[in-house]
Amino acid sequence: MVAKLIDGRAVARKVRGEYKLRVDQLLSQGVRPGLAVILVGDDAASQVYVRNKIRACDEIGIHSQTIRFASDTPQSQLIDTIQALNADPSIHGILVQLPLPKGFEMGRVLETISQDKDVDGFHLYNVGGLITGSTVFPPCTPYGVQKLLESEGIPIEGQNVVVVGASNIVGKPMALMLTAKEATVCICHAKTRDLAQFTILADILVVAAGRPNLILPQMVKTGAVVIDVGINRLPDGRLVGDVDFDGVRLKASYITPVPGGVGPMTVTMLLCNTVQAAERRLLSARAG
Ligand code: NAP
Repeated sequence: MVAKLIDGRAVARKVRGEYKLRVDQLLSQGVRPGLAVILVGDDAASQVYVRNKIRACDEIGIHSQTIRFASDTPQSQLIDTIQALNADPSIHGILVQLPLPKGFEMGRVLETISQDKDVDGFHLYNVGGLITGSTVFPPCTPYGVQKLLESEGIPIEGQNVVVVGASNIVGKPMALMLTAKEATVCICHAKTRDLAQFTILADILVVAAGRPNLILPQMVKTGAVVIDVGINRLPDGRLVGDVDFDGVRLKASYITPVPGGVGPMTVTMLLCNTVQAAERRLLSARAG
């Protein structure tokens, strides 16, 4: 068996095309969706991520604004800026690029973002909504994985799902989102004993650990769907995921490549959440 590649770039293009039409609809009603991105410090990777997000906004007609702060900016100034953006009607989504430099209280900063503008989905309200099924803005990376599964028509209900990685931004929300779709979900992490005894049971295996070659072919059930969220830069400069791609693709039914799998979906889902935030505001303004 050779796995079918899930082409994240192609799915991302299609979803962006759909949302561009929704932006056009909003424009025709006098609303231009707006995203504010706050970047604190000069972390090189964060600069690249922010640039990509801004470029993606431009491409589908979302107005964007980047606000930069030095790493020694007082937290109170950051909080004041977020509060001003909460009140700004031209801004529908607010994103604080993580990680924040040392000294900032991430929770306090994220809780300042209005839950109606929390397009990264990291506010406690939206995180809690993952438990009750009432989240407004799902976090972008797991939301992107869910879209990839949908795009291939891969059933989730009743499937055994194993999520490797239990971070607050990928692993845990992923597990909750697939539980809500009635999968039977197991979450593994660095303290899991004998990872393979869990991964081998997975009909759908989602890996987000940040460890190259963590998942080897003998750890994967024949015919499994394998979603590789990991992004790792090897010493020779190559970008790889967490899965032994060449080995596992001979056993899986579907697999995502790195790069070109989950990565393009993360920014895409940020665009989707921003457009949805603008649509929600328009609806509630109409409702009075
Ligand atoms: P993170 O916060 O470092 O969390 C990693 C998780 O993996 C932790 O729960 C950790 O367990 C677990 N883990 C580490 N080593 C493990 C092992 N040997 N066996 C099993 N579990 C292990 O990372 P993250 O932010 O979730 O990101 C994970 C990966 O996804 C990274 O490579 C990151 O670059 C990538 N990523 C990609 C995208 C995208 O758009 N494609 C977006 C976000 C992240 P403990 O909890 O026990 O420490």
